[in-house]
Amino acid sequence: MKIFDAHSDVLYKMWMDPTIDFKDSANLHITYNRLKASGSKVQCFAIYIPEEVKPESRFEVALEMVEIFYTKIVAPFPLLKLVRTKEDILALKEEEIGVLLTLEGCDAIEQSIVRLQSLLRLGVSSVGLTWNYANYVADGVGEPRGGGLSTFGTEVVRELNLASVWTDVSHLSVRGFWDVIEVADYPIASHSNAKAICNHRRNLDNEQIEALIKKNGMIGITFVPQFLSSHGHASINDVLRHLDYICSLGGENHVGFGSDFDGITDTTSGLENFSGYEALINMLLKHYSENQVKKFLFNNFMGTLPI
Ligand SMILES: [Zn+2]
Repeated sequence: MKIFDAHSDVLYKMWMDPTIDFKDSANLHITYNRLKASGSKVQCFAIYIPEEVKPESRFEVALEMVEIFYTKIVAPFPLLKLVRTKEDILALKEEEIGVLLTLEGCDAIEQSIVRLQSLLRLGVSSVGLTWNYANYVADGVGEPRGGGLSTFGTEVVRELNLASVWTDVSHLSVRGFWDVIEVADYPIASHSNAKAICNHRRNLDNEQIEALIKKNGMIGITFVPQFLSSHGHASINDVLRHLDYICSLGGENHVGFGSDFDGITDTTSGLENFSGYEALINMLLKHYSENQVKKFLFNNFMGTLPI
């Protein structure tokens, strides 16, 4: 079954350790070999700039990650193709896998629209506004003051609308979320779960989930154990609880997966790496029809792409 995974931090790991080989490194959750073996059709790769990078170096680091994406992921593997649109994905041959570049947090662009435009031109096709902290665009979910979109942030979202690019609300403050719902044409949460099931600040409450559904957005259920269960450990069944819940709110056509593989140290049991998708699919097929499982795994994210 085809898999569309809306979030991973492979680029961050490969930037931290340049010796990592994407083909089959034991240090990666997502490798070329695992994507091939387990049915990947579209894999998203986030540019995430760690907090310890000084503000003036962040754009440079973002460009370094773009370079890693093209030289170490796209170039060496002829079956991996850069995709940006539905049309690109539909054009993939049977054996080919689409790789989609995303930005996790606008810290690197500081207050510059041209930097955003340049990243879009370099292939970025989904933009998360913040990580957990504040930047010029908005406050992240970890800022106690909980500010929303700045004037510049509104300009950023408008630019994403014009470019037909997803605005990703994962990590954003609650107020920022509601500002985005007002302004964004294409809002998604690439890697967030349901707060009613696991009360974590990174998860979405019922009203937020319903607002995303209403705006034809997406919720990518993520495999971060702390966002799946409040018990300190999580299993594949917790993924089902979040999925059932989002479906009960009317989200059957607006839910998918954003694993956060390679962005996490603790993993969920049964989902230790990308190959865990196979067990997840088998489990889902016991609870949902094949058509529904295909929607969750691929068709919903695919159908929600702006162009
Ligand atoms: Zn994240």
